[in-house]
Amino acid sequence: MGSKTRANTLKQFALNIREVPEAALFSHVSPDGDCLGSMLALGIALESMGKKVSYYNTSPLPDNLKFLPGIERISRSIPEDLPANLIFIDCAEADRVDSHLVNNCLPTRTIFNIDHHISNTLYGTYNYVDVTAAATGEIIYSLLRELKISITKEIAINLYTAIITDTGRFSYSNTTAKSFKIAAELVKTGIDLVAINNILFERKSLAQIRLLHKALSNLVLLKDGSIAVIVLSKEDFAETSAEENLSEGLVNYARNIEDVEAAVLLKELDNDEIKVSLRSNSWLDVNKVASKFGGGGHIRAAGCTINLPLSEATQSVVLALEEALKHGRNN
Ligand code: 5GP
Ligand code: MN
Repeated sequence: MGSKTRANTLKQFALNIREVPEAALFSHVSPDGDCLGSMLALGIALESMGKKVSYYNTSPLPDNLKFLPGIERISRSIPEDLPANLIFIDCAEADRVDSHLVNNCLPTRTIFNIDHHISNTLYGTYNYVDVTAAATGEIIYSLLRELKISITKEIAINLYTAIITDTGRFSYSNTTAKSFKIAAELVKTGIDLVAINNILFERKSLAQIRLLHKALSNLVLLKDGSIAVIVLSKEDFAETSAEENLSEGLVNYARNIEDVEAAVLLKELDNDEIKVSLRSNSWLDVNKVASKFGGGGHIRAAGCTINLPLSEATQSVVLALEEALKHGRNN
């Protein structure tokens, strides 16, 4: 896959960022290791250059990411008096951060858009979108190199987390030689790989295991086993005492079943508010499927939110997946 239009070169992007005295950093709702790790690494670097930095994410932060250096600096509410320069990290669209912000502040601000999603709408004043990067963390690493920032342990922990979460520990199809090369440089700073891996992937809360049990018992296969569906209702979350963000990774259980091409997890966040995670194994473009519902992402991993009752949302997504599978590999 080639690079999407880069409205700016990394060099130009770095030159523009260097000029900024103060910036507010944003990452997407339902945050993951890549968006938070990338935001914190960039913010710490900008602070080391003497810039004033503020950090925002409007969602609750997952417990297993609370070890990230600098995470306590992230505010959940976005103030009205934002600085002139806003940096959006790992956000395919500006409203992945907050629709109020988009409607009220963006027209009057300079926006830096740093991302790796194929569905990125190039909404920034300056855009650096590299769809060949497995994680936005890889782009941030290259940007920091361009800015001649030395990679401290704090920065390395954030960027290593970004890369291992978005590559599924170097196993997804987005993983490249560059992912390993950057990771190797980060490892040289002496970060504790075992501890990071343990926190991110091994240690689970009881609520998380209970939610996994629910998810597996709700899993169904459709269309001769080519589609795997997991539905989690509000009641499932209530009964397991699990926060919504503890469902991270559950969709992989559906994707990992042999002969499955398309996997979907539907989470009922509220009545008529269904968060959908889509995955494919070898050929289906789930970014296209998600875009039919106003979402986006990557070819093998995408998502959207559907404002319908859970059963209707499930039906619509399954229908869209059936259609996409029927049209086959050439469409
Ligand atoms: P997840 O299923 O893990 O939430 O997300 C998979 C990928 O799709 C991530 O790269 C994520 O940023 C993207 N994604 C998830 N939900 C949405 C959405 O509603 N809109 C867009 N544009 N991308 C999404
Ligand atoms: Mn990402």
